[in-house]
Amino acid sequence: MYNPKSHCADEFINHEEILATLAYADEHKNDMELIDSILKKAEPQVRDNGLFCQGLSHREASVLLACEDPAVLERIYDLAERIKKAFYGNRIVMFAPLYLSNYCINGCVYCPYHLKNKTIPRKKLSQEEIRKEVIALQDMGHKRLALETGEDPINCPIEYVLESIKTIYSIQHKNGAIRRVNVNIAATTVENYRKLKEAGIGTYILFQETYHKESYLQLHPTGPKHDYNYHTEAMDRAMEGGIDDVGLGVLFGLELYRYEFAGLLMHAEHLEATFGVGPHTISVPRLKKADDINPDDFDNGISDETFAKLCALIRISVPYTGMIISTRESQAVREKVIRLGVSQISGASRTSVGGYAEEDRPTDTEQFDVSDQRTLDEVVRWLMEMDYIPSFCTACYREGRTGDRFMQLCKSGQIQNCCHPNALMTLKEFLMDYATEETKAVGEKMIKEQLAHIPRERTREICEERLQLIEQGIRDFRF
Ligand code: SAM
Repeated sequence: MYNPKSHCADEFINHEEILATLAYADEHKNDMELIDSILKKAEPQVRDNGLFCQGLSHREASVLLACEDPAVLERIYDLAERIKKAFYGNRIVMFAPLYLSNYCINGCVYCPYHLKNKTIPRKKLSQEEIRKEVIALQDMGHKRLALETGEDPINCPIEYVLESIKTIYSIQHKNGAIRRVNVNIAATTVENYRKLKEAGIGTYILFQETYHKESYLQLHPTGPKHDYNYHTEAMDRAMEGGIDDVGLGVLFGLELYRYEFAGLLMHAEHLEATFGVGPHTISVPRLKKADDINPDDFDNGISDETFAKLCALIRISVPYTGMIISTRESQAVREKVIRLGVSQISGASRTSVGGYAEEDRPTDTEQFDVSDQRTLDEVVRWLMEMDYIPSFCTACYREGRTGDRFMQLCKSGQIQNCCHPNALMTLKEFLMDYATEETKAVGEKMIKEQLAHIPRERTREICEERLQLIEQGIRDFRF
């Protein structure tokens, strides 16, 4: 039976409830009165001197997803854009993935790391190799990483991941530093989540891949990941272990997107109902070509248009959850969905183990084909030319603003006095230390203009002082 407060996967992601939701959505997809009321419910409202959004339930959002009326789609896009602007301003947070190991004992049929793949060279970085990767990443200007590994308790135990995190945080090359390490590793125990929390991770990210249990069991035929309930209940264990920033995601292309969308929102509702805080982020990866993997073998691929609609609907349904897009997507697709709600993007990613320290992009151990192959400098300039502020900010979790404290910041309307100056200061660091002259010129102009958008006068003054200090070589300021 459906119960968002249950800790049992079959109850909080309930198959019958999803089927009933999809039937309800089909029944009401042309009910313009209902659709109008749903869109109005999702509108930002003024409350306690700030803007507030109540979001949408999985049923409401599913009706909007099912509706094919072009005028409704325009309203969805317009609303998503306004919510994005209200809560995230024009900041885009930058990060890069770091692949530590591709040893894996699972049989995931869509992933090149699967155990039976004998053509992919298996690799695990030594601490010395991690140093080289991190220096290469710092030299590009990255401050925030997402660690990635396959699942292999012998070749890649939790102790190795913990030691690697320690190594990463300890490296300071020139003015570089990795200030936030997010972790995307297989579902694990409460005890291990506690260890990750103690190691100072930011967000724990785990993609559900698919919420459809029957398909999940077929797509993960062997290995520990076969256990659907253990995987689906991972975020509950992470929360129990003290990690209060968790990142959800679906791998679009595996199952029917309407089913996945309802499941994803039910997962968010479950976290909100049981822990009082929704997911920190939602990722929206799409299945890509990789070694031994042909996306055409999977028949649920979605068009760029459907993908954009999904991103916009996630934005209006869970307005306080950050949305992440990777270099699986092309520049053109990224451009479209950043406008509709994406708040975090990776740049200059290499998805191979040890790829950053190499001169040329190695492809033999890549986890997936990278569509956007631009340098970080190019991505930063591109964002600014579209009037977005690339932000290398990592302040929140370092200031203890995680879980519900971060949500309070979002809801209090103080983001513009906090995240905005932090974005400008970290952008300034990037311009001073890593940017080409062309990017620097665009960036300096942007910082000057954007200072005016810090509402509180005193904060603006402090920010200006700190920008001067950054020019003089001092680093790492934050509000
Ligand atoms: N091994 C960990 C786990 O089991 O969750 C997570 C790390 S895995 C390196 C990161 C993610 O890459 C997976 O969760 C999956 O969604 C995604 N992925 C796997 N194969 C892919 C493919 N062919 N195209 C795009 N993304 C893929």
